[in-house]
Amino acid sequence: NEPVIVIVGRPNVGKSTLFNRLTRSKTSIVDDAPGVTRDRIYGEAEWNGKKFRVIDTGGLVPNSQDLFEAAIKEQVEIAFQEADAIFFVVDGKSGLTPLDIEIAQNLRKFTKPNFLLVNKADSPELEIIKNDFYRLGIEKIYDISAINGRNLGDLLDDLIESL
Ligand code: GDP
Ligand code: MG
Repeated sequence: NEPVIVIVGRPNVGKSTLFNRLTRSKTSIVDDAPGVTRDRIYGEAEWNGKKFRVIDTGGLVPNSQDLFEAAIKEQVEIAFQEADAIFFVVDGKSGLTPLDIEIAQNLRKFTKPNFLLVNKADSPELEIIKNDFYRLGIEKIYDISAINGRNLGDLLDDLIESL
């Protein structure tokens, strides 16, 4: 069976953009409006000849602020049930938010590899933006760009090694 990577994170951090890049598909809908991805989406990916499945949980996060808590619990539940590794995506441009902290707390009991991806770090000088996120207490932290692919090679090398 192929390993499963579950992408979690609050709306608008770039989960679907990352999913599309990993799966080279347009299956996942990317939009500026938070919560636009309606369903849980599965895709196939491959790195250095190793195949894995990717799940974009973005569709579970509704537009309504009130429902965020329940939706995030659901994201995390899917991750616990299905993931061999988690890609927890945060937005390096907007910095750490209370929702990021809540997701990190919910993920604490996950015993398999958990990669914290500080996205929207489109150029090397933005590497510093990840400093804000060390306090989430997640060891594997990467500044990446889902849009231009920056540092995704290093991330996927480490992912494959950890599976
Ligand atoms: P999701 O709600 O987490 O699935 O986020 P999306 O993938 O829909 O992206 C939300 C917005 O962030 C879109 O306007 C994307 O173009 C933008 N975005 C995603 N990844 C990056 C990135 O690496 N760099 C920059 N600058 N913008 C990004
Ligand atoms: Mg999405």
